[in-house]
Amino acid sequence: MTTQDVPPTEAPPTGHHRAPSLVLVNTGDGKGKSTAAFGTALRAIARGWKVGVVQFLKSGEWKVGEEDVGRRLGIDWWALGDGFTWDSDDIDESEAIAREAWLSAKTRIGSDEYDLLILDEVTYPINWGWIDIEDVLSAIANRPSRLNLILTGRDAPTALIEVADTATEMKKMKHAFDQGVMARRGIDF
Ligand code: ATP
Ligand code: MG
Repeated sequence: MTTQDVPPTEAPPTGHHRAPSLVLVNTGDGKGKSTAAFGTALRAIARGWKVGVVQFLKSGEWKVGEEDVGRRLGIDWWALGDGFTWDSDDIDESEAIAREAWLSAKTRIGSDEYDLLILDEVTYPINWGWIDIEDVLSAIANRPSRLNLILTGRDAPTALIEVADTATEMKKMKHAFDQGVMARRGIDF
């Protein structure tokens, strides 16, 4: 909450420099982590950037609407996940698929073909120990200089926040789900 109740009169500080690329982390328990990432993808597309998305958890059965639109806009989209873990009868398979998704993401990161890569829901397999955080940190540190990265998911590890240029915590104030409202097509997926 801000106490400022008058328009700003001072110019913003000067002396900022241009960075070749940025690392963004969208975390927290509120809605908006993935949608903010996809909103940024629209900006990237508008500038003629090559954009890729790797979704670590969403399944083919529960395909998000933005995948179709993203593909139409020329985004390379990999929904390699096999759904939510609590739908999975074989947890080892989920782990194998998450590891596979990371190998694929790592290849894309090193390929120097992209200006923006979104690693959607990547924090979960990291926190479950399926993907080695050190491996992720080293891929981030050694990425091509033009490659911007957005990583999303709840409970982003501290080490990830530390390497991020911009980290945002979406804080839940209310969520319809808590009032018993189902996820809604067009709003939630
Ligand atoms: P979105 O994709 O809408 O930006 P998100 O990426 O911040 O959401 P996820 O944890 O990835 O959040 O949630 C996936 C799904 O769960 C989405 O349908 C989202 O709307 C919904 N959701 C997000 N936050 C909550 C919450 N606090 N409680 C219940 N459902 C949520
Ligand atoms: Mg999400």
